[in-house]
Amino acid sequence: MSHEADPIEGLWQEYAAVFRGFDDLTLARWMSQTLAQLHGQLWRASHPLVGAFRLAAMVSHERQIWHQRLVNAPVDFPSAECCRAPLLPMVTRDVLESGFICLHCNGTAVALEDVPDEAVGEALAKWAEQYAPVHGVAHWEDHRRSSHASYDQALESAAGEGEQLLARLGTELTPPLLEHYPAVIWDDQDECLGIRPEDIMT
Ligand SMILES: [Zn+2]
Repeated sequence: MSHEADPIEGLWQEYAAVFRGFDDLTLARWMSQTLAQLHGQLWRASHPLVGAFRLAAMVSHERQIWHQRLVNAPVDFPSAECCRAPLLPMVTRDVLESGFICLHCNGTAVALEDVPDEAVGEALAKWAEQYAPVHGVAHWEDHRRSSHASYDQALESAAGEGEQLLARLGTELTPPLLEHYPAVIWDDQDECLGIRPEDIMT
């Protein structure tokens, strides 16, 4: 994790305090109800409801809420193979290496080769290969930065390209996944390139 991420992590821990105050049953009920509300749609990761669910998922994973079977998850959500929590996959720029991320354990909920629609899986792999070098501009070594005529310009054009690619992720590549999963989340930002959710037009 990059050093910029640490204050964010600290802030998330602070936000999560609200769910730490819930007892196990209340937390399980809140999550089950919220899953039902997330059902059937594609969501930006920046959506506040998704953000709240992620916090609850983090706390529920620490406490192994879904193993306790306090409530039933909504019927349309199968258990994720990674941690047996309800399957709620998130698609990120790391999809090639990490597959779809589990919101509960941050592990791989679905490996890319296990995506039921092969064409969609291939399109996502191609997209990730395209995205990697664009993202990589933010991580150029100093010698490469100084040898480039204008690193600022290179970074700005990479950010522009990244915005286009992320918009494609949210408008073209992830919607077909709703045929296979109860709800799908896509990561609508790139902190390294300075792309904010509001920069991505969908
Ligand atoms: Zn998991």
